[in-house]
Amino acid sequence: MTNKIGYIHSILTGGTVDGPGIRYVIFFQMCPFRCKYCHNPDTWTKNPMGIKTVNNVLADILKYKDFFNFSGGGVTVSGGEPLLQAEFVLELFKKLKQNNIHTVVDTCGYIDVTKEIEEVISNTDLILLDIKHLNTKKHIELTGRDNIKVIKFLDYLKQKNKKIWIRQVLVPTYTTDENYINDLINFLDKYKGIIKKIELLPYHKMGIEKWKKLGLNYTLNVDPPQKDVVDNFKNRLIKSGYEVLVS
Ligand code: SF4
Repeated sequence: MTNKIGYIHSILTGGTVDGPGIRYVIFFQMCPFRCKYCHNPDTWTKNPMGIKTVNNVLADILKYKDFFNFSGGGVTVSGGEPLLQAEFVLELFKKLKQNNIHTVVDTCGYIDVTKEIEEVISNTDLILLDIKHLNTKKHIELTGRDNIKVIKFLDYLKQKNKKIWIRQVLVPTYTTDENYINDLINFLDKYKGIIKKIELLPYHKMGIEKWKKLGLNYTLNVDPPQKDVVDNFKNRLIKSGYEVLVS
């Protein structure tokens, strides 16, 4: 097997939110979206300063195997969008599976399901999939791209009976009103069998400083959601039969 190179933004060795247990989280560079609320805009483009090989990363990961075994954790690829570097992820995940290490892909889902992606998915234990917005126009407004590929990707995961966690950012004026909650519950109903958890991520402004440093214009002018709005969203999903986590 080869030793592919990947453009890596950063690595977190003790992650506890991007999948179960204690996780080694690899944040990849490049993303097809430009979310108005992104708190990692420094991952958007390719930067040769972060090149690593699969074997380098694997050697580092193996140092943490006891932590994974003890906590039910493993490795998560995140970003940016890790599936834009599917060759690297595939080679890494095949090697992780040979070492009995749990694998998670954290993705925006804006992906064509090629043969390579199919192979990555078959070596993945859990997918964390972001739903940015269900309305195509609003999705474009929030991310710069439509949601058609995301929904196709979700249909593919259902066809493969793949375990997923859904991630929904709660952005006032976009994704917190009753209509949106109803639409989301109706939409997710079709995928209920594969959804193991829904994670709600209340919008926050912590990314603004990064945007400024990068010379980017931060145009989202909303406040974080109030506690009662978050609680209401959470309770509606729980009533619909989902396990819900607020991060
Ligand atoms: S998908 Fe994630 S990394 Fe990409 S722009 Fe949106 S929030 Fe940022």
